[in-house]
Amino acid sequence: MSASLTDSFGRTITYLRVSITDLCNLRCLYCMPKGQEISHSEVMDFDDLVSVCRILARLGVRTVRVTGGEPLVRTGAAEFIRDLKAVAGIKRVTMTTNGVLLGEENLRALSAAGLDAVNISLDTLDRERFARISGCGGFENILPAIDAALELGMSVKVNCVPLGDFNEQDIPAIAELARTRNIAVRFIELMPFGPAAEMRPFPIREVASRVEAAFGKLMQVPVKLGEGPAVYHTLPGFAGHIGIIGAVSRGFCEDCNRLRITAAGTLKACLDSTAEIDLRGLLANKASEREIEAAIVDLVRRKPAGHRFASAGEERKREAAELFRIGG
Ligand code: SAM
Ligand code: SF4
Repeated sequence: MSASLTDSFGRTITYLRVSITDLCNLRCLYCMPKGQEISHSEVMDFDDLVSVCRILARLGVRTVRVTGGEPLVRTGAAEFIRDLKAVAGIKRVTMTTNGVLLGEENLRALSAAGLDAVNISLDTLDRERFARISGCGGFENILPAIDAALELGMSVKVNCVPLGDFNEQDIPAIAELARTRNIAVRFIELMPFGPAAEMRPFPIREVASRVEAAFGKLMQVPVKLGEGPAVYHTLPGFAGHIGIIGAVSRGFCEDCNRLRITAAGTLKACLDSTAEIDLRGLLANKASEREIEAAIVDLVRRKPAGHRFASAGEERKREAAELFRIGG
């Protein structure tokens, strides 16, 4: 069996995103519909996830991002990260979190477990707008978490989803977080998943114009910060970078290097496709490592060329799963 996973379009898989829960402590209005989460008993065991990661690492996966739902609501996230870091071949383990539970204790545990980098989501710097978007509190924990993670030597990115009528006025202030901090602030175009399928995306071109009106010309730089599809820029006098992810309008599929494991234990070849494997079912039926490996190789062959976010319509909306389940 070849030790690399290459799909039928010549793209090599090196990156895995694992959703360890679809539960969340926030209710961001573009992400989480009420009352549809699965219970913790239906999520995949950490030990099973580590076994699957071992197989994927043998096949060439080098980076694992732990996400959710909110990964920090699941007990044992730090131990899981420590176990992932011990898997031969896995070089980097990162996490995406809303930062609300990223207090000193959690940060120290994650750092001791070997977490290399953290992406912290922050859509506004205004407490009231935060409550309006997330339906919850906890805003006051997020900026301190960003600075504490930097102090612990982690690489930090901030994710912001601009929404017309909700946080567009915050774009310059969020970008400014990268003025004195060596972080990447990334603006992510709203993708039509779950509740977002009914919302009006804020144009990603307009994000760049708002940033430039405040800070001067964005200069694109050929840096690759992590595994993601962001295009990075510098600004005069800024220590960090500004990333733009035109998820729908610019697409990011050409260089896609990733697979995803959903909270319920489904391995997906693409965010937006039903090409998938039921890992929990395979493990429950005592499939051998060779059988799982063969199923993964076959799945990668079925990976589609790209997403279909731009094709609107009722059918597309019905099919759109929720990002908190797939793992954003
Ligand atoms: N709870 C964690 C958090 O908020 O960072 C991890 C999961 S969340 C689904 C991961 C990222 O996906 C967040 O940055 C969130 O803003 C983003 N996201 C959620 N729904 C989205 C959508 N429809 N389009 C674009 N990004 C979305
Ligand atoms: Fe929770 Fe993250 Fe979705 Fe917000 S974006 S509801 S924090 S999973």
